[in-house]
Amino acid sequence: MGPNPVIGLLGGGQLGRLLCEAAAPLDIQIAVLDADNAPAKQISQSRYHISGSYKDAEKIRELATHCGVLSVETEHIDTTVLEEIAKSTKVAVHPSWRTLRLIQDKYEQKAYLGDQGVPIAEQMAIEASGDAMYASLRDVSAKFGFPWMLKARKDSYDGRGNLKISSEADLDRAVVEFGSLRCYAEKYVPFERELSVLVIRTEDGEGRMKRLVPYPAVETVHEDNICSRVYMPPRATSIPVCKRAQQVACSVVEKLWGRGIFAVEIFVTKDNEILVNEIAPRPHNSGHLFTEAVPYMSQFKAQLTSILDEPLPAELDPHVCSSMMLNILGGINFDSHLPLIEMAKSMYGNKMAVYLHLYGKEPRPGRKIGHITITGLVANITELEEFGQPLVKMASEIRQ
Ligand code: ATP
Ligand code: MG
Ligand code: MG
Repeated sequence: MGPNPVIGLLGGGQLGRLLCEAAAPLDIQIAVLDADNAPAKQISQSRYHISGSYKDAEKIRELATHCGVLSVETEHIDTTVLEEIAKSTKVAVHPSWRTLRLIQDKYEQKAYLGDQGVPIAEQMAIEASGDAMYASLRDVSAKFGFPWMLKARKDSYDGRGNLKISSEADLDRAVVEFGSLRCYAEKYVPFERELSVLVIRTEDGEGRMKRLVPYPAVETVHEDNICSRVYMPPRATSIPVCKRAQQVACSVVEKLWGRGIFAVEIFVTKDNEILVNEIAPRPHNSGHLFTEAVPYMSQFKAQLTSILDEPLPAELDPHVCSSMMLNILGGINFDSHLPLIEMAKSMYGNKMAVYLHLYGKEPRPGRKIGHITITGLVANITELEEFGQPLVKMASEIRQ
C-alpha cells in the first residue's frame, strides 16, 4: 500500500471502472463494493474489495473499516449508513451524505435549488397514489398545460422514471406505471439544446468550501431519454452562453457539501434562458471526453484529486480544438454493436484521433456498454461532427 488512503467505492459499474483506470498510475487503491464480476473489479485488484450489494448497509460498514475515504458511483444509495459512518468513525464520506440525500430525491433537490434562487422549471409535488392520482394529474394538466413531465422522485436514471404527458390519454398509463411511486410534475421545457457543466469542488478538513473549478461546458444529446452523444464545444452556442452555464453550475455546486466532481445538467431555451435540470454528485457520462480532451485532469482523476485534497489546476483548458463522445449501447442482438466498434478502430486521419472504451458489460438493448471519443487537434466542432457522422449513423441503426 502506498501513502494514499484506500478509497472505498460503493458500486463498481463503468464509472467505477474508469475511476480505477485513473487511480492506477497514481498508486491509489480503490476498494469496490459490488458483485465479483463488476466492471471495476475486472480491471483492478484489491484485497479490500467486498463482494455484495452497495445497497447493503452491513457491507458498507465492513468496507469502511478498510478505507480512509468512502465515495460513490451512484446517488441511489443508503445515506443513513453513510451519515452514521461520517459521524461515528474517522472515515470521510465524499461527497457528503447530505448532498447525496438531497440529490437522490429529484423534487427535494430542485426545491432546494429554487429556494436558493437557481433557475429551474416549475414543479409540483404529487402526494396521491393509485387511482387517487387521477385528480392530481388533472390538476397538474390544468395548471401546466400539455405537455408536461411526470417524474419519479427517486431511483431514476437514463430517463427510466420519466413520462412525458402529452394529453389526457396518457393519464391512464401514468397511473399504471407511476401509481405506486412517489412522483412529482415538472413543466415541459421546450429547450433549444442541453448543456452539461462539470465542476470540481474542494473543501478543507472542517467542511468549509475551498475551491470550485469548472470544466468547459459541453452539449449533450439525448435520444430515447438516454444520453447518446456529447460535443465540446457545444454546437451553435455562443461563448457568453457557455460562460453563463459555467457560472450557474458553479453557483449550484457551491450550495452542496463535500469534495468531488459534480455534473450540472442544463436546458438552454431559444431565448438563451438557462434552467438547471438536475445534478449528478459524481463523475458523469457527459464528462467522458475530458479523459482525452483535458488529458492532464480527466473527470476521474479530478474525483480522486479533490477527494484526497491534492493540488488542482487553476483552469481546465482543453488540449484539442474539439471533441465528441458517442455512447455504445447494446442492440437487439448480443453482437449488434460490434460493427460500430470495428468502424471506430479503423478511423484515423486528418489530425483526428478515435479512442475506444469498453466496460466489460454484457450487452443488452439500450444498455451502456462502452463509449467512443473523437478529438480534433485543429478541427472545429463542425468538421469533427462531419468526421464522426458515420459512427453516429451506425449507432443510430443499432438503436432501431
Ligand atoms: P440521467 O440518466 O441523466 O440521470 P434521468 O433519468 O434522471 O436521467 P432526466 O435528466 O430528468 O432523467 O431527464 C432525461 C432527459 O429527458 C433530459 O436530459 C431531457 O432531454 C428530457 N427532459 C427531462 N425533463 C424535461 C423537462 N422538464 N422538459 C423537457 N425535457 C425534459
Ligand atoms: Mg438523473
Ligand atoms: Mg439527467
